[in-house]
This record gives sequence, structure tokens and C-alpha cells, in this order.
Amino acid sequence: MPRRVRKFQHITRSLRFRLTVSYALFFSVMLIGVGTIYRRNLATILDTQIRDGLEQEWAAVKGYLRIENDRPIWYYDRDDPDESFIIERLRRVFVVADGQGTVLADAQGNLQISEAYESIGRDSPAHIAAALHSQQPQWEVRKNAKGVPYLLRSGAVYDENNRKPYFVAVGRSLADNSHILEQFTWTYVAIIPLVIVSGCLLGWFLAARGLTPVLEVAQAAQRISGSNLRLRIPSRGAHDELDFLIETFNRMIDRLENSFNQIRQFSTDVSHELRTPITAIRGQLEVALFTASTADQYREAMLNSLQDVERLSQIVRALLLLSQAESGQLALQKTRMNLSELVADVVDQFQIPYEEARVRLTADLPGDCPAEVDRIQIERMVSNLVSNAMKFTPAGGEVRVRLRNETDGVELVIEDTGCGIATDHLPHIFDRFYRVPGRDGSGPERGLGLGLSFVAWIAKAHQGNVRVESSPGKGSRFVVFLPVSVPADRRPDAAGTPVASGMNEL
Ligand code: ADP
Repeated sequence: MPRRVRKFQHITRSLRFRLTVSYALFFSVMLIGVGTIYRRNLATILDTQIRDGLEQEWAAVKGYLRIENDRPIWYYDRDDPDESFIIERLRRVFVVADGQGTVLADAQGNLQISEAYESIGRDSPAHIAAALHSQQPQWEVRKNAKGVPYLLRSGAVYDENNRKPYFVAVGRSLADNSHILEQFTWTYVAIIPLVIVSGCLLGWFLAARGLTPVLEVAQAAQRISGSNLRLRIPSRGAHDELDFLIETFNRMIDRLENSFNQIRQFSTDVSHELRTPITAIRGQLEVALFTASTADQYREAMLNSLQDVERLSQIVRALLLLSQAESGQLALQKTRMNLSELVADVVDQFQIPYEEARVRLTADLPGDCPAEVDRIQIERMVSNLVSNAMKFTPAGGEVRVRLRNETDGVELVIEDTGCGIATDHLPHIFDRFYRVPGRDGSGPERGLGLGLSFVAWIAKAHQGNVRVESSPGKGSRFVVFLPVSVPADRRPDAAGTPVASGMNEL
């Protein structure tokens, strides 16, 4: 397609062009509509005026004209210039005739028909008869040979004895009215293109003013890419709809940047986590290969490698689970159950191993605590929290598990008298791979830093939440709240919809 055609298409498709055309169309329709209505009103007013004038003339004729023995006589003071003028005006377009259409003549023999009336033609006997017998005034428009229209008002005037009717008509030329209407029409028609052109220019200009900031926003948005998500579109400070759009857009970029950073951090953490056991396996195998000579030494190297492989598969399993949870593939399987029993079972599992570690584990559970939850996930959550509490509580300490029925849900509290968590670390402990440094040693027993991420996700997936309070050296307290009867429409697993992701949001 030639460049010029493409450019034209580009312009015609632009919002600016379409706005301008809409402006022009709107203006045209409005102007034509207004003009038509205005012209019709003007015509009506002019017509009413001329009819009123003729009615008055007719009344004047009846006042001044007497017909005695077929002789019309005009009664007025001939020395009064005003009256003479009135009579002169009345007789500009007029006729006085008898019932047969014969024009009457006055005493001086002057035929009572004006030149102008003569030019439009005499009345037919039928018309005269109709005018004489009708009670209503007769109105008629007639043109002369030159095409000048006249409005005529005719009727009957009786002789002095009120017996014989005579046909009298007065009229006025409509030329002035036609001229006024014509002038109005032409002036208006001449103005329309002017108004439309200026309307288009105004529309083009206003559309440009309105759309330039949009283009600027679009250009600024174009500069933002995956690698420079730090850029923001500057607000114009006008506090208008466009600023609202910019603000919304910037907030979206904020969220995108956060997600990008999280993904980046996640990949770094994962590679770091995987690298440690891989390096260890490699080191052990190298040592075995180059220095081991006895079967025991080989066995030990293989045992150590196996432990690291175990840790590797643990990490991979946890990551798989996490990514399933994040992508919404891990749909909750909710069933109605007694939460007390579930928590009691988990606590039981921890009793024996930690009795040896001399940590007291107590549970305060109500007899019945009905809830609709995913058994496996809630078990995982309680188990993670209890395991952490026990792990970070030294010998002689205590871990208390408490479950309580609340009005709008259930509250699970896991409290310990362990080492606690410093305020600096508290906001991060629910992040993936986050471990309080120097806390849980190293080696295969070392946690993955994923347990609390799961806890947070499970609580959130059940429409609940988890919060933590802790004072270093004194202990920690994790509180999970779960709404018991989750409304059907808010259930994340309703109709198989994926559960919410965002593992490190609380
Ligand atoms: P991990 O699986 O390694 O235990 P978590 O996500 O469960 O990871 O916990 C993150 C960090 O939070 C842990 O490394 C630990 O330092 C801290 N933490 C968790 N629970 C407690 C607790 N009850 N007392 C003290 N520190 C805790």
C-alpha cells in the first residue's frame, strides 16, 4: 500500500479525526435543525402580521365606504392629510364589485379597482358568490404576471339599506415577506459552512489538546519495559481523569515490579539452595575418588552424599508444591471436620520426640470445633507451626497449642517460650527461603525456609490469616484465624477455581 494512502488511513482512523468529524456532523445537524425551525417561525410571524394588517384595513374600509344605489362613496375629511393617506393606502390593492363581478364606479366615474388588483386579475363569479354567501372572511394568495404574490382578504359589504351585498377585497403584496425569508435563508446558508469549518477547527484543536496528554502517557508507557520497570509516568498534577489513569498505571507497574523482583529473588534463592547440596555432593565424591582407600571411607562419603541428595529432593518437592500452590493448581479439598481432633493428632505426633528434648508440649482444645477445611493442608500448617515452636525452644521450655471457637471462625494459637524472633526479621519470616541467620545451624537438619510460606498460603487459601508476635529471648506466638463457614461464593475451591497465590503476603 502506498505510503500516502497509509498515512491518510492513519489519520482517518485516529481518535482526533473521528472526534472532529463528529463535531462537524453535530454542528451541521444542529444548525440545519435550528435554521429550519427558525425560518418556519419567522414565516408564521410575518404571515400573522400581514393578516392582522389586512383585518384592520378591512375594518377601515367598512368604516369609510358606503354604497348607495350601486355607487360606492368614501366618507372621510379630504382636507385631513392623515385620513387622505389612510384611504390612499386602503386603495392600493382593492376592488369593489357587485354580485356579478362588475366593478363599481364612483360618482366621478372612477372604477373602484386599483392598478395592483387589476394586475392579479379579476375575481371569478364563483369566487365572488362564495365570498358573498360565506360568513367567514375569504383569504387567497394570487400572483400577478411578474410573479409577485398578493394576499387578499375579501368579503361582503352591504348597501345603506343593509340589503344588497357587494364584493369588496383588500390585499397586500407578499413580496416584502418573501424577500425577508429569502434573505434569511441565504444568509443562513452562507453562515452554515463558516460555522462548520470553524467548528471543525475548534474540534480539531480541542481534540488535540485533550489527546496530547494521552499520547504522552502512551509514549512514557512505551519506554517502560521488563528491564526498566523503575520508570514511572510523571503525574501532570491536574488531578483529572488522566492523572487518575496515570496513577492507576503506575500502581500497576509497582505491582509488576514487585512480582518481577520476587521472581528474580526466587530464582536466586532456588539456585543458591540447590547449589549448596550439589557442591557438597561433588566435594564428597571427589574426596572419595582421590583420597578414600578403605571401604568404610567410601561408605561414609556415599552416606554423606545420600543425605545431600535427600535434601536436594526435599527442596525440589517443596518447590514443586509451592509452584503448584502459586499457579493455583493446588485446589483445596474441603471437608467438614472437628478441628480439635485434627490438632490433637498433630500434637500427639510431636509428644514423644520432644519429651526426649525436655520441652513441655500442652494442648488446650475444645471438645468440638467444627470447621470446613482441607485436612491435609491444615495438618501441614499445624505441623509446621508446632515443629518450629519445638525446634526453637530450648530444653526446659514450653510450647502451648490452643484452639478456640470464635463467633466468626476459629483461632489457633501456638505459643512457645523459645528464642523468639528479632523485630528486624519478623516481617520476612513468611518469605520463601527466609531463615533467621545463625539460628538453625547447618547440615541436613537445617530448615528450608519454606515452612511459614506454606502456613501463610494455607491460611490465605482458607480465607483466613496468620500473624506473629515475638520478643527475642522470651518466645513467639503465632495466631491463625480461619473463618469456619466460608460463604460459598468466596470459597477458593468452589467450582474448582484456583486458590489465591502470593505466598509471602499475609
Ligand atoms: P524453616 O522451614 O527453615 O523452619 P520457616 O519458614 O518455617 O523455615 O521459618 C522461617 C524462620 O523463622 C526460621 O528460620 C526461624 O528462624 C524463624 N522461626 C520460625 N518459627 C519460629 C519460632 N517459633 N521461634 C523462633 N523463630 C522461629
